[in-house]
Amino acid sequence: MSKLKDKVAVITGANSGIGLASAKLFLKEGAKVVLSGRRAEALAEASKDLEGDFITVIADVSKDEDNKRLIQESVARYGKIDILFLNAGIAPVSPTSGITAEHYHQIFDINVKGPILTVTEALPHLNDGGTILFTNSIVHQKGFEGLAVYGASKGALRAYSRVLTNEVKSRGIRVNSIAPGPIYTPLYDKMGLSQDVVEEMGKGFAAANPLGRFGTPDEIANTALFLASDDASYINGVEIEVDGGFSQI
Ligand code: NAD
Repeated sequence: MSKLKDKVAVITGANSGIGLASAKLFLKEGAKVVLSGRRAEALAEASKDLEGDFITVIADVSKDEDNKRLIQESVARYGKIDILFLNAGIAPVSPTSGITAEHYHQIFDINVKGPILTVTEALPHLNDGGTILFTNSIVHQKGFEGLAVYGASKGALRAYSRVLTNEVKSRGIRVNSIAPGPIYTPLYDKMGLSQDVVEEMGKGFAAANPLGRFGTPDEIANTALFLASDDASYINGVEIEVDGGFSQI
């Protein structure tokens, strides 16, 4: 199979969860992949199992100079970029009464500023007819307790992606977002919650979901592949919920 033969893909947050599953699938489909993450050990560990033409770039999406370097190193290795997949994100929890400036800046720097400035850096190096993908979330469609700033960050990204879609239309660049529902990834261990709370939350999410379960990173990667490939050649500006129907009921 080679739905992405010789396409150059840059993926942020590629050492774990959805980003890693997507990197593996893109490589299998013939893409040349730049895997980016901020943790050197995680990136080294993740790349052990990978086969194909890839490089890794250590970059923190909250740092402007790192976003610039990510694109520079990608272009230096592979030339122009065809697929820019802005996937890195965090989801720390806080009740609205406890939101601090630090909580706000941490989430917005990584989930909003990072992808926006990476796009700015990448645009001159994106091939016309290329594609930009965001991993967004269904959180901005529902009022999950404790996820106010996270939800706001993903809502902001959705608004941004609509304008971007309009501004890159003359170059034939498609811009789409994936809105995962609850997906089994290490994200939940990083939310600052105890294991018991995470397990209870997981049961609640599964019970409220029409398909009665969490999704898998591979199910999101399959959607990313579809949106990045010519199979989705007339799909532009959308956000696709991949959530078992959670957001629809
Ligand atoms: P994950 O924790 O496995 O992956 C997140 C990735 O982002 C990791 O590779 C991490 O290293 C990277 N990252 C975090 N901060 C970074 C930074 N400052 N610079 C560079 N990389 C950074 O979790 P995941 O579930 O695979 O998350 C991927 C995306 O999916 C996120 O944007 C998240 O908001 C979104 N999402 C996840 C779920 C879910 O249920 N897992 C649901 C909806 C949306």
